[in-house]
Amino acid sequence: MTDKELFNELTYKRKNAYECMTDNEKQEMHELCDEYRVFLDEGKTERECLDKALLMAQSRGFKDINSIDSLKTGDKVYKVNRNKNILLAVIGSDDISKGFNLVGAHIDSPRLDLKQNPLYESNDMALLKTHYYGGIKKYQWTTIPLAIHGVIFTKNGEKVTLNIGEKESDPVFCITDLLPHLAKDQMAKKMTDGIEGENLNVLIGGMPADTKEVKEKVKFTILKLLNERYGITERDFLSAEIEIVPAFKARNVGLDESFIGAYGQDDRVCAYTTLKGIFDAKNPKKTAMAILVDKEEIGSAGNTGMLSAFFEMTVAEIIEKLTGKCGITDYNTVIANSACLSSDVGAAVDPNYESVSEKMNAAFAGYGMVLVKYTGARGKSGSSDANAEFVYEIGKILDDNGVIWQTGELGKVDQGGGGTIAQYVANLNIDVIDCGVPVLSMHAPFEVTAKSDIYMAYRSYLAFYENR
Ligand code: MN
Ligand code: MN
Repeated sequence: MTDKELFNELTYKRKNAYECMTDNEKQEMHELCDEYRVFLDEGKTERECLDKALLMAQSRGFKDINSIDSLKTGDKVYKVNRNKNILLAVIGSDDISKGFNLVGAHIDSPRLDLKQNPLYESNDMALLKTHYYGGIKKYQWTTIPLAIHGVIFTKNGEKVTLNIGEKESDPVFCITDLLPHLAKDQMAKKMTDGIEGENLNVLIGGMPADTKEVKEKVKFTILKLLNERYGITERDFLSAEIEIVPAFKARNVGLDESFIGAYGQDDRVCAYTTLKGIFDAKNPKKTAMAILVDKEEIGSAGNTGMLSAFFEMTVAEIIEKLTGKCGITDYNTVIANSACLSSDVGAAVDPNYESVSEKMNAAFAGYGMVLVKYTGARGKSGSSDANAEFVYEIGKILDDNGVIWQTGELGKVDQGGGGTIAQYVANLNIDVIDCGVPVLSMHAPFEVTAKSDIYMAYRSYLAFYENR
């Protein structure tokens, strides 16, 4: 063996996933990504994404667990929580006491929520007040076409679903920004202060109603249109949940179409690949579970987030419907033997901003699924930091199944940081590691991912379900 060969054998070097893929794999990747773009376009809110996931599951034979008294190997079930959170399970051939394999992604994304009393008129224009949701750079949300999605209840309790701005024939909405000519003071501000939260008001109309009796004529026009089209009044906004999201569709990016650009890829890219993983897993030995949660972007709290008891209650229900009982020992044994991939996106090195990453340990777009041992900030605070035993176990499963993967961390030490649902899964006493797709422009209205990484994330979840 030459020294060069020995050196190559002794050193580790990550690989570009595209360079390792066969023609068949590339074909499969393009098909997967074509379907993924539709998944993104049809599910721009947690509710819409859940509806889409539910339809996909039902068309593949998954049944509502509420309608089933007992479970057996091969059964496919789901349980929905408040239209925003779903757990899917495929019952494995192993005894449930050996544990289950869980993949968990979140389906909420950063956005602008309407306030409870949003509509007002100013300078003969009607606008909607918003309160942003999740970590956004506010300036990115001005001067782009926006759509209105959500649910609103009429006085007599009818639930109206809003979706305005997605069809070619629909109008869109927007947040205006200052012209550069008059932005001397604004441009001198820090970027965090350049656009203020209370200025994220959405333009919704500008045509005064033809009347002498009402002062707020533009607001009157909008209220009349809302009432004619949806049967709602201003009061109905008080209980409504309405989200403002980018109106554009998911697109292929690059002449070679190697990337996907779209809103909401954090974390619907992992939600989608998780769903495909559990759907395609063939006769899993351990029971396979997938959970899609809400509220991750604001700390996983609330009854539809990962901190909700919904997950534990549903696991207990599955154990009881499988074995006839679920005592505390039964439950604890199942949990202690279980494992989870927290499927969430990672930060990809951006060629324009290399300095925030430490390139030996950062993830690169196109280099496959990223396995993130720890997240957190200021010395790993707020992270679950996966055990070496578990990282080895997952790495081996990925290698044995031809998955191209890399490790990653969220930026240089002390550059910033963040967290995922992993820490909350870990608190239940389950082995867990973050594992997902590297993203460029994360949390922006148009996030970018590499198709090879999406494909490798899918292959990772499939390998985990079929082999652990
Ligand atoms: Mn995320
Ligand atoms: Mn996020």
